[in-house]
Amino acid sequence: MIILIVIFIIFICWEIYETIYFRSEKFLTIKRRIESYVNNCNELNSHIESLKNTYLGINQLDYGQARYHDESRWNYKRPELKKQKYEPNIYNCSRTICDNARKQPFKYICKYFNIKATEESLSQFENVLNNFESAEQGKFLLKSEKENILNSIKNDIPTLIRVFGKKKLEKKLGFQSIDFSTTYFPRYTFKYVSSGGNASMQCDVVMDIENLNRFVNYLSETVKFKKSVAGQRSLMTSALRQKIMQRDNYTCKICGASTYVEPNLLLEIDHIVPVSKGGLTSEDNLRTLCWRCNRKKGAKIEYPYSSQNISPVENNNT
Ligand SMILES: [Zn+2]
Repeated sequence: MIILIVIFIIFICWEIYETIYFRSEKFLTIKRRIESYVNNCNELNSHIESLKNTYLGINQLDYGQARYHDESRWNYKRPELKKQKYEPNIYNCSRTICDNARKQPFKYICKYFNIKATEESLSQFENVLNNFESAEQGKFLLKSEKENILNSIKNDIPTLIRVFGKKKLEKKLGFQSIDFSTTYFPRYTFKYVSSGGNASMQCDVVMDIENLNRFVNYLSETVKFKKSVAGQRSLMTSALRQKIMQRDNYTCKICGASTYVEPNLLLEIDHIVPVSKGGLTSEDNLRTLCWRCNRKKGAKIEYPYSSQNISPVENNNT
């Protein structure tokens, strides 16, 4: 009992100490000093969140709506049927399909989730891969940048606050929390439920970075490319991203920012002529941009060609 009272008193004292500290002029001065860095982190954080929302424009057919009544008298015996879900990313199927989907997931995803092996869907998945990979890298760079900022004010913050109130300290300094979960990766589910509702089997295919890379390769082998494109096109995979960054010496081609100066800078790969305007995923149409420049560019609807662009858009009047 006494121990409990002591713990309670310590807790109350700690709360009071924290409250007084976070209101003190000393803390507010530190907060103001690093404000612009914190804002920069938060901006990157919301950029990462927007990358995660990259639209997968497939499987958007409107199949209509129907009414359904289950009037059977033996409902109570069907636990698996009760759990049955009907969502666009779930395909309720026979046991055989579920089993086959486990062995050849990509083939069955294409067939039952209506993903056609076309250049358009390939480009979409490449775009998703490119953005998700930036998001995944961004999360860890952001974490590291946040640690750097916290480290720089380490000596000005009381040890007790730093050690026992780290989460609250970050919040009070204005840092948004970073979402490290990977639940945003698209998931395709094949689900079999027996007609009696007592047995079920499920096959989940999560399109994480590794599977997206493999899926892009899979699609590219099935796509029949137009003659003008065949042979000129590369695949936007993790390997190509890495190659382009290396070629550009890890430097943004617009503002010149580089990871040599800013080790935690998030670099992204950009299509100089956008895919939507007929730009190819080829090495000469790709360049490295820092996330800030890429974000600014993405915000523009019309992209003006500049002199540094690749040859196909230059005119021959000269
Ligand atoms: Zn830049």
